[in-house]
Amino acid sequence: MSTSSDLELLTGPTAAELPPAAELAGRFPLTANPAPADAETYRRCMDALAFGVSFTDHMVRATWTPQSGWRGRRTGPYEPLTLSPAAAVLHYAQEIFEGLKAYRHQDGSVWTFRPGFNAARMNASARRLALPELPEEDFVASLAALVAADERWVPATPGASLYLRPFMIATEPFLGVRPAHEVEYLVIASPVGPYFVNGFQPVEIWVSQHHHRAGAGGMGAAKTGGNYAASLLPQQEAGEKGFAQVCFLDAATNSYLEELGGMNLFVVHRDGSLRTPSLTGTILEGGTRGAIIELLRDAGREVREDTIYLDELRSQLRSGEVVEMFACGTAAVLTPIGRLAGADWDAVVGDGAAGPVTTGLYEELTAIQYGRRPDPHDWMYRLV
Ligand SMILES: *Cc1c(COP(=O)(O)O)cnc(C)c1O
Repeated sequence: MSTSSDLELLTGPTAAELPPAAELAGRFPLTANPAPADAETYRRCMDALAFGVSFTDHMVRATWTPQSGWRGRRTGPYEPLTLSPAAAVLHYAQEIFEGLKAYRHQDGSVWTFRPGFNAARMNASARRLALPELPEEDFVASLAALVAADERWVPATPGASLYLRPFMIATEPFLGVRPAHEVEYLVIASPVGPYFVNGFQPVEIWVSQHHHRAGAGGMGAAKTGGNYAASLLPQQEAGEKGFAQVCFLDAATNSYLEELGGMNLFVVHRDGSLRTPSLTGTILEGGTRGAIIELLRDAGREVREDTIYLDELRSQLRSGEVVEMFACGTAAVLTPIGRLAGADWDAVVGDGAAGPVTTGLYEELTAIQYGRRPDPHDWMYRLV
């Protein structure tokens, strides 16, 4: 089986290697929304802070064609799109996206986490989906422009943030099957609260035996809507059984763990070492996953990127060799896993509660993101 060494790891510029936001933001000039949300609507959104429900006053756009490259970079009012019913994205799912957050620090400044990594990942996804790449500095500039226009939407509540959703769609009205000759890049934003409303709650995970999210040579390593579409039915079936999320196994042998529909996985061993599934080409390389590996290595802990067989894991859960498991991604940061089950088995992870390694990593990473701790890896980029 291939291991991470066969694959090119995503690297992008660190925050220190990027030009300052004030210099970049002008690349997407602002036409202010003449009818921004009124005080009451704004208050309602900022008090509720549900995930991905309400959106800010503005959005960023740019258009690409093979002849002209990227043009029409702009920040304007948040509004519905005008799209031909024949737009390629609606038929053949030529689409990619990203997800980042803007965090308000104590002094009022606004920062984001590893935008250079997300820029590089969006371009890796673009290559797989035969979409045009966007220069990394344009990607960061688009975030800076939107957050500058919508700064009032960055919550100051502890644990809350402004979720940023860059995405790229094939807009060309053409039903033939080939990469589209007209593409749109957009960024929208949604104020969101802390993922765990009732504190740090372990989730219960269903391991899917019949459905897979990605196969060898497919799109598993790209952040694209199609992978999420593939995860919806298994997710719904798991939900009916009372489970919050699905863990997918590899499609070739149905024997080792890959990831959840939108989060990577880690297991914590009794001796304090950790393992996470290798980047085999069928899982998505998370920025949170990479940051966690670096934090653990900084602390002198052993982390292995490895093949995690389900059978082996089940016996390690029974014997107490594996004491904690967690999922990770931008939205929830870290999610403790309290229980793992499949068609004819059921296992409690540790004592079913959030363990100290999971809790410690969550606190360390969020402290860096909210500016309460130094940032030795230059992950934080100041937007406003
Ligand atoms: C976005 C995503 C993740 C998490 O990536 P982060 O960069 O940590 O947010 C993991 N798996 C899938 C399938 C994803 O789409």
